[in-house]
Formats: sequence, C-alpha cells, structure tokens
Amino acid sequence: MNLTPHTGRCIICRQDNVVLSDEHIIPKSLGGVSHCYQVCKDCNSILGDHVDVGLVESPLSRLERYTKKLKGQSNTIPNPFDGTYTDDKGNKMRLELIDGKFVPHLIPEVNVDAAAGTFSVAIDVRDQKQLDSIINKVAKRNGFKLKGRGQQQIGKIDNPSISIEHQISLNEIKMGLLKIAYETTIEFLPTYYDDPKAEIISSILHDCAFDRLGEVQMSDGFYDVFKSAFASVIDFSKENRHFVFLLNIDGRLISYIKLFNLYSIAVEMSEKSYPDAGLGLVLINDWEEKKEYRFTMEELVALAVAQTSLGLSFKESVPSSVQGFYSTLDKKNIVFDAAGRPLCVLDDLLISLPDANVSETAVIDNEFTTQYTIPSGYYLLGAPSKILLPLAAVSVTSHIKKF
Ligand SMILES: [Zn+2]
Repeated sequence: MNLTPHTGRCIICRQDNVVLSDEHIIPKSLGGVSHCYQVCKDCNSILGDHVDVGLVESPLSRLERYTKKLKGQSNTIPNPFDGTYTDDKGNKMRLELIDGKFVPHLIPEVNVDAAAGTFSVAIDVRDQKQLDSIINKVAKRNGFKLKGRGQQQIGKIDNPSISIEHQISLNEIKMGLLKIAYETTIEFLPTYYDDPKAEIISSILHDCAFDRLGEVQMSDGFYDVFKSAFASVIDFSKENRHFVFLLNIDGRLISYIKLFNLYSIAVEMSEKSYPDAGLGLVLINDWEEKKEYRFTMEELVALAVAQTSLGLSFKESVPSSVQGFYSTLDKKNIVFDAAGRPLCVLDDLLISLPDANVSETAVIDNEFTTQYTIPSGYYLLGAPSKILLPLAAVSVTSHIKKF
C-alpha cells in the first residue's frame, strides 16, 4: 500500500509538485459526492473557507438543505431561520424546528418599572417551568426584594406575523458555482487546464475575487438549450440529482450547472470548442443515493436504447410446429436463401436494405419502432422441424429508458 500523499499539479494555484487533497466538486453539505484530486491542501482550505461557504451558507441553500434533510459538516441539518425575530406586535421570538415545522417560540421579555419597584415578565407558555428562576434573576439584578407574586396572565398571540429579511449574495453563489464548473471541466477535459479562460478562472477562485467575476460570462438563460439536448436520454423529472453539463455551443465551451431546482447557471468556460467533449458530457450527482455518474452523450444514448425487441412477419402462415428459428450462438437469426443455404445474419440483411424499405415511427411512450420490408428470396429456418419460411417484414422496437 502506498501511503505517501499523492503529489502533482494543483489546478487552482497552478503550482507543481504540491501535496494534493480530496476536494468535493459539489460541496458535501449540498449532497455532493464527486471528488477531484487535483487541488492542493492549501487551495482546498481556501476553497472551503471562502468559495464554497457562500454557496453552502446562502439562506437559499440553507432552506433547501433543511427541506432535503442534508446534513452539513457538523452533521446537523441547518435551521434556515436562525436568529431572533419580532412580530408585528413587537413580540420577540425565535423559530424552532419541531416535527418538521417552524414554530415560533417567544423569547422572555422583562419590563422593569424602577420607580414603582415593579416588573413584569412575559414568557412563552412552554417555558413556564423557568418562570420562578427568571423572576428571581430579574429581582436580584435590579435589587428588588420579592414581596409576593403579582397577577399571572396567560395570553395568546394569534397568528403572529413575522417578516424575515435575508441578504442573498448572488456573487457568493456565483463564485461557488464557478468552482463547480471549473473543476468538472478539468476532470472531463484535462487539456482545458491550458485554456486562457482556465487561467483566469483559477486565479479568480484562488483569490476568491468577487470583483473579477465579470471576467467570466455567466447567465441563467440556457436551461432550455441543455434540457433539449439531453431530454431524450435523461429523465429530468427525477429531482434527486445535481447536474453539470459540458457542451460546445456556437464554437464555445459552455458548462451548465443545475443544483436542486434552485440554482441553474451557464458559464462560458472557453472561447473555443473542445472536440473531446463530443456531443456533450454530463456529471450527475445523485444526492439522495450519494452516487455520481459521468457520461458522454454517446454513452447515455447507448444506455437509453439498449433494449430492443424483434417482430417477425412472414409471407405465409407459420405452422404451429415452429417453436423458434435457427440462430448463431450469440442468438442472432440466420437468413437463408430459397435452397436453404445460409446467407447472413438478420441484422446484416436489415442494414443492407435500401431506404425505401425502411420506415420509422416517432417516439411514443418511450419507444420507437423501425419497420423493414423484406424483398423476396430471404427465409428463416423454423426449428425444430427445419421449415423454410419466407420473410415479409421485420420490426425492431427500441425501448428508450432515460437515465
Ligand atoms: Zn493549490
């Protein structure tokens, strides 16, 4: 076992021979499971403390982490409404998470009338047990001698209305998303490291330079482009996944990130296209099952149409004695001529047919069928009784199973 730490080039500070570390491409607190081992220890800390934190701790993310029950580094689910709030009647309260609901909890309020030597205490009814100790504390602090308890009233605050204001920094979110785009692009396309834009992005990330974010084109209007490119092979109705796409569009390399249904942004990664990106690349991070997938579009297409079924029709009726057809060892039907001599496998015959003999149906209910009209002279050999049957047509139905 090799226990010496892995050394190499860091894609953030661009130094050689540095000790590399385990960097989460999408922050772990957002359900990220994809790793990148091309960031040095120091840069990993910088990214965690300055770049990731703005995205992870954004009120929007905290609310999403809460609703999705995603634990953070401290292994706790964040309360997106931490803090003290004042309702429209001036009552101070905090919001507590009880059985998945936000319940207001009145913060004890003490009013002292020093001249009259009296005071009043208002507490949440759930804090009643603490009433005596609160009264004693207030009395002690104010130098009062308790002569006896005054009146006690239990009131009810009906429908308290709290207005909550959150500061949301779009730049902090953008910085976090830019890092995800950058690391994913280098993971997929190692030569991207030398791209002029890659140098700019790595230095923006390294310095967490919010004032330089304008040097990278980022826009949120690209979702339809990416969705339509991948919609036939990816099931976008599943909500438990983050996506990072890479696609060449109009001679530029664009990364598109979608986290939950919350953040979606396109980033121009390069002013040139990358042939190695093929028809498109995607990193899928399933935050529920904690799994990641990296696919080329070609792989997704192959996965999607992997299942096919054959329909055979003949120019004459098939005797009931025919239970199957002679095939090769790998179960491909063999085509024979009228004299019973083998010609080829059925797949090869279908491929050789002219376009006029081929028709396709549109995709309906996740399947499409290709219909082949077979010219005269081609037979399949029925088993077990060896009967030659003249082929009339073959239909191949492909079942599309979106990933
Ligand atoms: Zn570094």
